[in-house]
This record gives sequence, C-alpha cells and structure tokens, in this order.
Amino acid sequence: MKDFDYIRAVSLEDARQRAMRSGAMLFAGGTTLLDLVKCGVAEPELVVDISHIAGLSQISADGSGVTIGALARMEDVAGSPGIKADYAAIAQSLSLAASPQLRNMATIGGNLLQRTRCPYFRDPGTFEACNKRNPGSGCSAIGGVTRNHAVLGTSSACIASYPGDLAVALVAFDATISLGERTVSAEDLFLLPGDTPERETILERGEMVMAVFIPSLPVAKNSIYLKIRDRQSYEFAAASAAVGLELETDRRTIKDIRVALGGVATKPWRARSVEEALIGKTIDVATVEKASRLAVEGAVSSGGNQYKIELAPRVVTRAILTTGGLL
Ligand SMILES: Cc1cc2nc3c(=O)[nH]c(=O)nc-3n(C[C@H](O)[C@H](O)[C@H](O)COP(=O)(O)OP(=O)(O)OC[C@H]3O[C@@H](n4cnc5c(N)ncnc54)[C@H](O)[C@@H]3O)c2cc1C
Ligand code: SF4
Repeated sequence: MKDFDYIRAVSLEDARQRAMRSGAMLFAGGTTLLDLVKCGVAEPELVVDISHIAGLSQISADGSGVTIGALARMEDVAGSPGIKADYAAIAQSLSLAASPQLRNMATIGGNLLQRTRCPYFRDPGTFEACNKRNPGSGCSAIGGVTRNHAVLGTSSACIASYPGDLAVALVAFDATISLGERTVSAEDLFLLPGDTPERETILERGEMVMAVFIPSLPVAKNSIYLKIRDRQSYEFAAASAAVGLELETDRRTIKDIRVALGGVATKPWRARSVEEALIGKTIDVATVEKASRLAVEGAVSSGGNQYKIELAPRVVTRAILTTGGLL
C-alpha cells in the first residue's frame, strides 16, 4: 500500500476544488475505497474526506418523488418509513446489501460508485493482465474462473459484472443523479466496457454525486428487489431483479411494469424488452415466463457463468409474479 495525504473537506466547494487535483480520490464511508487501496488497485496521492460536509445526507420527499443526499447512509435510507412504503425495491436493494456494520458506514454515493468484485481486478500482485486496471494489458478473467462474471454488456476487453444492488433499482424506476452542474439518468451514469473498461461512469475529474432523485410512481410503490446469491447474507448477487408493477383496475391487465437486472451485466441493466412484451397483457405464469426469457437476449457465456443465463429469467419471473400477487 502506498502512502497518501488525507484531508477533511470543510465544504462542498473545498471538496470539489481538492478533488480536481490529479491523484485525488473522495472518501465518503470509506468501506470500499480503503479495500481498494489496501489491495493495490487504488493508489491515491490525496484522499479527500467528504463525510463531514453538511447538507448532503437528507432524505426529502414531495408529491413528485424523493431526493436522497449522496452522503445518506445506506442503513438510514433502507430503514426510512417513507422509502419502505413508497419505494419498496429501493429499500430492499439496500437492506439486502453488505452487512449492518457496512451499511451504517457506507453512503449512497459511494454505493453507486463501488467497483467490480472481479477477483483478477482485485489482485494486481498476482494478475498483471486487467484492462480495467491497466488498459491494454489484457483480461485475466477470459479463459479463467468466471462464475461471478457478466453475461450481458460484455466486450472482448472486459467481462466484469457491476456488483451493486441500489443502482439496479434506481435504473428500473428512472431515477436521476445530480452531479451538481448537471443531472443524468441513473442508466446513463454507467458506461459499458467496450474498448475502455477503465472508464466506468461518465463522471469527470472533480465531479461528485450530490443526490439521487426517484420519481413517485405506482410501479415504484408496488415493487420488489429479489436477490439470489450463494448465501443468504453478506454476499453479492449472482442474479437479481428490481421489478415494479401496476395493474389496471381489472387487477389482471398489466398497465405499467419496470424490470432491471443485477449481478449479470457489466452495468445495471434495464430489461426493456421484457417490459414491452408485458404491457397490456394479462398477468399469468406462462405469459410472464415467456417474456422473462427476453431479459437475457444477447447474453454471452464465458464458461462458469453460463448458469446466469438460466437463472436471471427465473428471478425476473418470480419477482413479477410476486408483485402481481400470484406467488
Ligand atoms: C464485504 C462487503 C460486502 C458487500 N456487499 C455488498 C452487496 O451485497 N451489495 C452492494 O450493493 N454493495 C456491497 N458492498 C459494497 C458496499 O455497499 C460499498 O462498500 C459501499 O456502499 C461504499 O460506500 P462508501 O460510502 O463506503 O464509499 P467509499 O468507499 O467512501 O467510496 C467508494 C468510491 O466512490 C467514490 N465516492 C464516494 N462518494 C462519492 C460521491 N459523493 N461522489 C463521487 N464519488 C464518490 C470514492 O472516491 C470511491 O471511489 C459490500 C462491501 C463489502 C466490503
Ligand atoms: S474481467 Fe475486466 S476487471 Fe476482470 S480481469 Fe478482465 S479486464 Fe480486468
């Protein structure tokens, strides 16, 4: 681990100016940044602690939706009665993530910007080849152990999956992210690896996530985050689905539906083809199963992750049937 300077930012402006410096990295809860420093993936020259900046940890709701500050703690958001009642999948995506200790430290902004759990990426001492860490060096995962890697959105340069849960739910419900000077959709915040897997988001140097806005929608209220993983706690998703459903007054016809996938793609993955196949249809098991298979259209297996192509549509089916009251 390389030594670095540490400074506690006293204001937003102070943080932004310091973050502009080459080699600077922001520290919010520090729960993933320090791991990356210890394993040699991150080598900041300056760590700018933003955790004490006032005014960035509020949760405020009005008729149009809810705004969550970037420094709000995961546990506080997961436990907020308003979030649980009106944005169920958002609350569940947070409470099913990490552990209580981590959730009490970790922030919303830091959660969105966590990096892949690809074991080759996180072990620079053993695996030199990693295009995400070291552009142009190759990919140690391709041809290696790929059980946790992505099947959607991959490229010949990188097949690492995006590990977070919250971002999946945000993408499903058309959330937007305030970066201060500009606001982007949660979906557009994240980039596909393509030929430049080292660039994971659209953030420019010095830019900060300030807040997340989730519109108030019937689909966000009647929603679920279903996460399948190797063990029932303290584990990342093998496959997950954020689903929201609104039925017509007949309680059978699908008026609106949102579907996004986690654990299986290189970025939080909106499954629009599933949504389009179901809007206007009567909800029943056969129809939902057929549409859910579209979730993995274009999926490519790298060997050990083949099971995700089977698992993801089943997770989507179960989530939709649950929100529809059929399970
Ligand atoms: C053992 C373990 C299990 C986990 N399991 C899960 C899981 O199941 N699901 C899940 O979703 N997550 C999981 N996590 C990840 C965890 O949720 C993240 O570590 C946490 O959310 C990061 O938040 P933080 O505030 O501590 O971020 P930090 O570590 O402070 O920062 C993370 C990154 O974001 C940047 N950053 C932080 N805040 C901002 C901001 N406002 N603007 C711009 N950049 C910023 C930092 O520079 C850094 O690069 C797990 C982590 C661990 C260690
Ligand atoms: S999958 Fe991506 S992160 Fe993992 S070794 Fe290959 S290039 Fe690196």
